[in-house]
Amino acid sequence: MYKAIIIGTGPAGLTAAIYLARANMKPLVIEGPEPGGQLTTTTEVENFPGFPEGIMGPDLMANMRKQAERFGAEFRTGWVNSVDTSKRPFTLQVEGQGELQAEALIISTGASAKYLGIPNERENVGRGVSTCATCDGFFFRGKKIIVVGGGDSAMEEANFLTRFASEVVLVHRRQEMRASKIMQDRARENSKVTWSLNRTPLEVVAGPMGVTGLKVRNNESGQEEVIEASGVFIAIGHTPNTKFLGRQLEVDETGYLITKPGTSETSIPGIFACGDVQDTKYRQAITAAGSGCMAALDCEKYLEGHAVHDWSQSL
Ligand SMILES: Cc1cc2nc3c(=O)[nH]c(=O)nc-3n(C[C@H](O)[C@H](O)[C@H](O)COP(=O)(O)OP(=O)(O)OC[C@H]3O[C@@H](n4cnc5c(N)ncnc54)[C@H](O)[C@@H]3O)c2cc1C
Repeated sequence: MYKAIIIGTGPAGLTAAIYLARANMKPLVIEGPEPGGQLTTTTEVENFPGFPEGIMGPDLMANMRKQAERFGAEFRTGWVNSVDTSKRPFTLQVEGQGELQAEALIISTGASAKYLGIPNERENVGRGVSTCATCDGFFFRGKKIIVVGGGDSAMEEANFLTRFASEVVLVHRRQEMRASKIMQDRARENSKVTWSLNRTPLEVVAGPMGVTGLKVRNNESGQEEVIEASGVFIAIGHTPNTKFLGRQLEVDETGYLITKPGTSETSIPGIFACGDVQDTKYRQAITAAGSGCMAALDCEKYLEGHAVHDWSQSL
């Protein structure tokens, strides 16, 4: 039995852990399938404040974990399969750990970028393949880049990347795009954006130094061609990791947890959400960390006012 269980150890969950542990709430933190979260899959992080020379993603996350441990956060490895929110305390079924209970929960399970599922794609993440223009655009100054996708986020990423790139080629498998007219117009008015429509991506082309292009099939002629570029940005959306919650908490049409504006409160009192799992817009390490702080402070307030259990007996 715990006062608070934090699910997920990305920047959101670990920041929540630091705050709750420092407030003497002895949180349990469940690491899940990707201990340290998404930043463990990248190399240099140059935009997290406090590191003027940048820091490697895995190092940043290892530091956050150490900081939470220093104040008494407990960590367990495991994948949360389900949560029963119908009665208090909340009950979690955790792979490898069995049943765990807590008075309050912080959900920080992130949102996974969707990939195309083509050869050489995953292997080259951090070597020219990216799912985050804000994070990685800066590394492609003066280079030619490909953006794959046909929605608003692809248009936005393409426009944003023209700040750095010499040319941005928008690749989409259809002739028509899902993006709103205004976003398409903005991209069309941008002289650095070129279009390669009706092309199906087949394979990321890469050499020892990283990505050199994208092999595509022209859907009209059936011909295959390689579009040369130093970077391939995949902008086909994200999947919030909320499946294990079933339909118990309020989510938007794409599955992101809905929080009360200006707070981390979900639709069930005592359950808080932070980081990318509730953020359809910013999805940055620093915003995840910031919202992790909010969740910890909201959780603390909740436990002070609502806890029904005598914690001194079980801790
Ligand atoms: C390649 C790459 C590079 C990036 N570079 C930058 C950058 O330079 N700067 C920047 O600000 N942002 C960057 N980002 C974005 C940044 O990583 C995310 O915004 C941030 O990690 C979100 O933090 P989070 O804590 O919400 O979730 P995540 O980091 O996604 O962590 C989610 C956690 O939840 C756990 N989890 C998921 N499901 C379950 C479950 N069922 N049970 C238990 N645990 C579960 C996972 O194991 C993981 O520990 C990058 C992202 C990627 C993919």
